[in-house]
Amino acid sequence: MELKYKSTRNPDVTVTASEAILKGLADDGGLFVPVEIPKLSVSLDELKDMTYQDTAYAVMKEFLTDFTEEELRDCIRKAYDGKFDTEEIAPLVKVNGMYHLELFHGATIAFKDMALSILPHLLTVSAKKNRVKNEIVILTATSGDTGKAAMAGFADVEGTRIIVFYPRDGVSRIQKLQMATQKGNNVDVVAIHGNFDNAQSGVKAMFEDKALAAELEKKGYQFSSANSINIGRLVPQVVYYVYAYANLLKNGEIQPGERINVAVPTGNFGNILAAYYAKQMGLPIQRLICASNENKVLFDFFGTGVYDRNREFILTSSPSMDILISSNLERLIYLAADCDAEKTSELMEDLKSEGTYRITEEMREKMADFRGGYATEEQTCRQIGQVYRKTGYVMDPHTAVASYVCEDYRKKSGDMAKCVVASTASPYKFVKSVMTAIDEKYGAEDEFVLLPKLQEISGTAMPEAIREILDANILHTLECDADRMEETVRSILGI
Ligand SMILES: *Cc1c(COP(=O)(O)O)cnc(C)c1O
Repeated sequence: MELKYKSTRNPDVTVTASEAILKGLADDGGLFVPVEIPKLSVSLDELKDMTYQDTAYAVMKEFLTDFTEEELRDCIRKAYDGKFDTEEIAPLVKVNGMYHLELFHGATIAFKDMALSILPHLLTVSAKKNRVKNEIVILTATSGDTGKAAMAGFADVEGTRIIVFYPRDGVSRIQKLQMATQKGNNVDVVAIHGNFDNAQSGVKAMFEDKALAAELEKKGYQFSSANSINIGRLVPQVVYYVYAYANLLKNGEIQPGERINVAVPTGNFGNILAAYYAKQMGLPIQRLICASNENKVLFDFFGTGVYDRNREFILTSSPSMDILISSNLERLIYLAADCDAEKTSELMEDLKSEGTYRITEEMREKMADFRGGYATEEQTCRQIGQVYRKTGYVMDPHTAVASYVCEDYRKKSGDMAKCVVASTASPYKFVKSVMTAIDEKYGAEDEFVLLPKLQEISGTAMPEAIREILDANILHTLECDADRMEETVRSILGI
């Protein structure tokens, strides 16, 4: 049976998986969602002996039903290969009474690699399937990690171009360098004078601009998105939750059927939504602990039912979570509204015009699996130091937010179910914050001086992704004002 996708804002639009991947966002501004979340068709017992690649196939084939087995396996093989520095792809490490699911072993040492290594392949197969002749232009707003991971995934992939926008002052020095040194003839990077939400709104506006789309079409281009709103990003992220559960089962850490909790450092709500989809597929997950930094819109939302982005935007040491509009939440809203596109549309309209919306009590009850929590900068910093002193394990600030929130949740609720913490970035990527958290004396030192020191104190090898930027050339220096993003795109594409 073919699984179709609908827009969260219009019940009359149905598309295939490959069409949804190609388009990224629906024409009405809604997000594509499967008409029904499929169930796993293999047992957890079977899954426990599978490789990451076979697990990926078992999960993804349920969602991407218009891909042949050969096509899908080919995409998986090209994505999850030697670019990852471990054969396990997503290893699970026991730390401080929790299980850290390390999602940072790919090319750019952050969890975005998990999906962005495969998206370009899903996209080129989708283009062939739908007889697309245009060159596909990937337009991406990034708070730091997506941009580099997307560029690394798409660099020199035939039939594609990629343009990335990031907030000039909102990413770490290493993140900036990673992007500015990206090779590839089809790659452009622009630093905008604004924050991530400005970048994301600018990209969304271009996607929704029909006149612009018509002009692009004439020149042989069409837009697509690599942002986590693309269903081709979400589906590969379901895989590692299934893999983690099977891993716990295999190692006797849990009993068959035992329910676990997951704690996810959250920004755009993609990663945690993937965990929720995994639960809907049949994975025994009890609670989904949504961890925020000081930009705690989601904590407030789960506590009150009111989403309110009207607040100060705070720059933190976990920049990939510095977000006030979590786009993927729309998919949860849609599910909680019993797939009522009109209701979802109304709420999203309120968000756009008022910056806020309130969901009904009934909808709140449907989200009872979720718990919101947050960590202040000080708590995050202390968590890194404490866990290091206790165990020798070094966490990046994003992971530390989830680690803190998970521990805090346990203390307050007494719920001691086994907990998987999504570990979303390598500490090397945020070396300054991490080292300073461990000892203030490092605060005065240069990031590049700290890298070998991190290696020394953590006993982990310096990742290739770091070694390669140390002496690479700066290739991208383009900047623009937040309200001139469209002009910049036009000039890059020559239209
Ligand atoms: C993107 C990112 C997050 C947030 O993930 P979402 O899917 O946007 O919620 C957390 N940590 C790191 C390191 C990231 O790169």
